[in-house]
Amino acid sequence: MPSNHLLPTLPPRGGGRGWGALCDFGLKMTVLEILNWSTHYLKDHRIENPRLNAELLLARVLNLSKESLYARLNGQFQQEKKEALERLIERRISGEPLQYILGHQEFWSIDFRVDPRVLIPRPETELLVEQSVSTLSETSLVQTVLEIGTGSGAIAISLAKEVRDIFIVATDISREALLLAKENAKSAGVLHRIAFVNADLLGPFRYLRDQEPFDLIVSNPPYIDRSEIQRLAREIRDYEPIAALDGGEDGMEFYRRIISQAPSYLRRGGWLLLEVGEGQGEKVADQLERSGYFLRPQLLPDLSGIKRVVKTQKIIPSHRPLQKNEGFNSSL
Ligand code: GLN
Repeated sequence: MPSNHLLPTLPPRGGGRGWGALCDFGLKMTVLEILNWSTHYLKDHRIENPRLNAELLLARVLNLSKESLYARLNGQFQQEKKEALERLIERRISGEPLQYILGHQEFWSIDFRVDPRVLIPRPETELLVEQSVSTLSETSLVQTVLEIGTGSGAIAISLAKEVRDIFIVATDISREALLLAKENAKSAGVLHRIAFVNADLLGPFRYLRDQEPFDLIVSNPPYIDRSEIQRLAREIRDYEPIAALDGGEDGMEFYRRIISQAPSYLRRGGWLLLEVGEGQGEKVADQLERSGYFLRPQLLPDLSGIKRVVKTQKIIPSHRPLQKNEGFNSSL
C-alpha cells in the first residue's frame, strides 16, 4: 500500500477498524460508512463541525448537493473517488478553510465565490447589511452608497440585490479582490449597479471632496489588533488575506482614517455604518462623537450579543460651520 495515501495510513479507530480497514471493506463500503469514517478522522484532527465538513467534502467529491448526498447514504461509495476524497480531507486537516476548498460561501442567501484573494464573508456581517437595508429603505429617493473595502463584494452585492434605486461605489485596495467581487456581482446580476474602484479608502474621490456625494457609507474594515494576528485560528491566520484583517497597532487604524475622511463625502444627515470587533464599539463611538461630525452612535449587537455594528448620522457641528477641506487626514 503506498504510504503517501492518506486513508490507509490513518490511525486506527475504535475496534481496530482503522482507515486501513477501508481497503478491506473495499467495494462493500457505503457512502454512509465513508461519511462516518471521514467525520471521525476530521474530529480526531480537531476540526470543528467534523460532520458538516465531511458531508460537504464528500458531496463535492461525488458531485452531489448535500441533500442528494443524504438520499444516497446507503448506496455504494465509488472506490475510484477515494483519492480525491483523501486529497480534500488532507487539505482541510492542514488548516485550509472549508470555504476555500469548496470555493463558495453563502451570505445573505446569495452564493459567493471565495478564494484566498478575499476574506470569507462572516455571518455576523449580515447585521451590517440588515441595518444598511433598513436605513436605505426609509426613502424612495435614488441614493448613492459607498462601501469601503468590499473584498468578495458580499456587502455591496447584498445591498444591490435588496434595495432598489441605489447606486453603489465599492472600493478595495486589492485589485485581485476586485476581480473576484466583479465576478460575484455578475453572477448575482447586479454588476451594472456597482462601480468597483481600486482605492485606499477615499483617495481617488478627492475631486469630490466637500461635495458630499454619498447618502450612506458602509464598511467592515480590517480591525484585528496586529499583535493578535498570531493568535488567530490557523484557518484565518495562515490562509485569509492579512491585509483584510490587520487593523494596525491597536486594531483601530481604519476607523480613525474613515472617521477623519468620511465627513467630506457624506451628505448632511447621511449615514455611516461600521462593523467593529469585540470590545471596539465604545471606542469607535467615542471617536465618532468626538470628531464633532456625527450623532452619538447606536451600537447594535449581533446574534452572540457582541456589539458589532456602529451606526450614526452626519451632523454639522453646532459650534462651527463645516470648513472647506475639513475632516481630512493629512496622510491622504
Ligand atoms: N471578523 C473577522 C474575524 O473574525 C475579522 C474581519 C475584519 O477584520 N474586518 O477574524
